[in-house]
Amino acid sequence: MSAEPKGYRERSRKLLAGENPRAAVTKATLHHFHTRERAYAELPIEEWRSYAEGVKNHLLSHLEHYLDQAERSLTAHGVQVHWAETAQEARAELARLVSRYQVKRVVKAKSMLSEELEVNPWLESLGVSVLESDLGEYVVQLAGETPSHIVGPAFHKTLADIQALFAREFGTPPQAAPDVLAAAARSRLRQAFLEADMGISGANFVVAETGTVALIENEGNIRITTSAPRVHVVLVGIEKLLPRQRDLAPFLTLTARAATGQRLGNYVSLIRGPKGGDPDGPEAVHLIFVDNGRLRLLADERSWETLRCLRCGACLNACPVYRQTGGHAYGWVYSGPIGAVMAPAMLGSRAAGPLPYASSLCGACAEVCPVKIPIPALLLAGRQRAVLEGEATALERGVISAYGQAMLNPALYRAGARALRLGRMALPWLRAWSDGRGGLQPSPKSFRELWSER
Ligand code: SF4
Repeated sequence: MSAEPKGYRERSRKLLAGENPRAAVTKATLHHFHTRERAYAELPIEEWRSYAEGVKNHLLSHLEHYLDQAERSLTAHGVQVHWAETAQEARAELARLVSRYQVKRVVKAKSMLSEELEVNPWLESLGVSVLESDLGEYVVQLAGETPSHIVGPAFHKTLADIQALFAREFGTPPQAAPDVLAAAARSRLRQAFLEADMGISGANFVVAETGTVALIENEGNIRITTSAPRVHVVLVGIEKLLPRQRDLAPFLTLTARAATGQRLGNYVSLIRGPKGGDPDGPEAVHLIFVDNGRLRLLADERSWETLRCLRCGACLNACPVYRQTGGHAYGWVYSGPIGAVMAPAMLGSRAAGPLPYASSLCGACAEVCPVKIPIPALLLAGRQRAVLEGEATALERGVISAYGQAMLNPALYRAGARALRLGRMALPWLRAWSDGRGGLQPSPKSFRELWSER
């Protein structure tokens, strides 16, 4: 997967300087933050979160068993199951299916895994046209961009941005109302659904016990993507299983509440296989289980908990850092707190660059996470990993080493603390830190001085 997290600082500075994306992201994330708050308040949410954490932990500690069971259940309904250890293998599997079914046109439902695997450019390189059917994804595709949020790919766009884009693409009036814009997209997409040979989707869950593929959405596009074309391909990470059918209902509502503050998505599709004797539905359903580094995460005691992630985006909406820049600053497919945690584990510390530091560690992400992923602790582990792998800067190493010396020598500690208080504004790198924060005044006396006075 192409990833450029190293340029995080430069991209953030640029995004912070522009008003539009910042205002759009803040507005959209705050809206979802508050709707989630209200939806959580209707449940004994701590019990639900503990239940969801427990189910996912059980699944992850018996993953091989449930993957075997899922394959048997899916196959029993006529779903053809494939396995891909890497992104290359997943793309090669897709290429085989494209050639086998002589596919020329694909419609795609929103899927972060397909972004991770870079499916669109791959299919286009095979001469296949790909159209995103989710409205936000479609906007991003038309603009030649990538999604900036797990749930709201176009959160960074204002209404004026989309009006200008659609005026250029479809000739809609420059001040067109949102329903006019949606109608313009719908008429183009409707034709694409009818002409597509293959529909590609992700999956919110695959139930191992029954082989049910569950998808949540609000627009109805996933239902058409998975049923109108003659072939449906599901791309799913190996961690997206649920053990039992009875786990599905609570996970569906928990995901919707965390993501958008709805009690349930407008549409929930439960797919069991090809159409068989039914008049509607695809002739063939293929499901590709993708590892692409997930087993490595599972074996890592600092990162395995990220595999509980439901990709609900609640941690992005809660994060005061993400809200200022949006997802493009992060430079890879997964942004926000969960992206900053996954980057060092999946890409390595060098490639992840400063992402584990893109957090104030306020803990808001962990408070909202429906599966209780301890994101701040994992961010700290990412920072520790960077130091252990030799990625700390010379300045950071120097400061920590000086701090260690000072902590061993009380006189040195006192002198250092005094010098820092007095010299704060004189040191350019400290001024750079304090310039971004309001009202930071050093105490006239140190804690030790106050303590000895008492
Ligand atoms: S880490 Fe938690 S809050 Fe963030 S996307 Fe994953 S499940 Fe949602």
